[in-house]
Amino acid sequence: MLTVNGTPPSFHLLAKPTGPICNLDCSYCFFLSKEMLYPGDRFRMADDLLETYIAQLLESHTAPEVMVAWQGGEPTMMGLDFFRRSVELVEIHRRPGQRISYSIQTNGTRLSNDWAVFFKENGFLVGLSVDGPREFHDAYRLDKQGKGSFDRVMAGYEMLAARDVDVNVLCTVHAANQDHPLDVYRFFRDEMGVQFIQFIPIVERVTETLLPLANLGWASKEDDRRTAKRPLYMQQGHHVTDRSIDAGALGRFLTAVFDEWVRADVGEVFVQHFDVALGAWHGEGGGLCIFAETCGLALAMEHNGDLYACDHYVEPDYLLGNITETPMIELIASEKQQAFGRAKRDTLPQYCLECDVRFACNGGCPRNRFIDTPAGDPGLNYLCAGYKTFFAHIDPAMKLMSRLLNQGRAPSEISKLGVPRRTA
Ligand code: SF4
Ligand code: SF4
Repeated sequence: MLTVNGTPPSFHLLAKPTGPICNLDCSYCFFLSKEMLYPGDRFRMADDLLETYIAQLLESHTAPEVMVAWQGGEPTMMGLDFFRRSVELVEIHRRPGQRISYSIQTNGTRLSNDWAVFFKENGFLVGLSVDGPREFHDAYRLDKQGKGSFDRVMAGYEMLAARDVDVNVLCTVHAANQDHPLDVYRFFRDEMGVQFIQFIPIVERVTETLLPLANLGWASKEDDRRTAKRPLYMQQGHHVTDRSIDAGALGRFLTAVFDEWVRADVGEVFVQHFDVALGAWHGEGGGLCIFAETCGLALAMEHNGDLYACDHYVEPDYLLGNITETPMIELIASEKQQAFGRAKRDTLPQYCLECDVRFACNGGCPRNRFIDTPAGDPGLNYLCAGYKTFFAHIDPAMKLMSRLLNQGRAPSEISKLGVPRRTA
């Protein structure tokens, strides 16, 4: 929603204080290749930029809630003092009545008790990347020596759990775990005891020429520096890497997890796809940009103040400007960024416009719209088949949960009432 002068009352901005630099070398992490955008850079946000950023972020929000969100690369590589300083700066620059929440996305391998204490004291929501039990997590989440990171991530999680820090597990779904939805979900629910889960399908889109190199992974490993140059990841091409999820498998994965969740876990475990879907069925949009009608209010800022249209479009064509030269709010309200957000709606193929579940899907994220519709029109989402299966499957249950909400009752009552099934 924009105000009369074109500025949004709030927005979501992921700041990357170490740019794409990370202590791990996950095979599917195309963010690692973004190092090539800033050759020779130290990739550390300077203290004066940190203050400029925090001041502008707070100043730009007219809505009372402000999210200060850190991402990477691996943001903990900045060290704890950087984040202590960021909280001090928020206290200096916040306006009366502004409510601040903090989030950080981390691979969890560098966490100590001091980090956990800091997160708890300041109410951070920690997004922790875990791809399920060891055999799935260690398929691609490797360190620079090529070793799995599972044990270090679990040690980090134990630190957070011991201090009762809010944790949101971010689980990428890919070729290695796509056929094991219940093993993955039950591991999070029963063994880790997490309440908040996000599933993120891995779609590494590439050109035919880049495919063999991309299949080797996006990192620039120490020994590769001499022997092979990794490509810069761009949203181009009509192929996907071997690690990418299969669209049909995404539908089966989400459907299987939903059936397990809806039987007994509603109101106990929060799965982002299901929460957002209930919002759509209940007539409340928003919540997740990929399923919103338009986007453009989920931006990313590099370590040097460069602001990009979206975290998935950290590419030269989508650079809006630098916040040290142009105020952040002007860049966000710019015609370039508004056109980016509108294009999500305005470029939908006819196949989507006529789709029964468009109200919930809205064609998905534009970055994945690189296949043709059955009629041969371009611009269909690579994940369409999965989305169609999933949204059609959950329709009866979503209708019932929406009715319960209308009656002032809890959606979790669905487990007592019995989950309605879809009729063919
Ligand atoms: S491009 Fe995709 S990820 Fe980026 S803001 Fe739009 S919908 Fe969200
Ligand atoms: S399910 Fe497929 S056809 Fe329907 S809106 Fe989503 S991407 Fe388009």
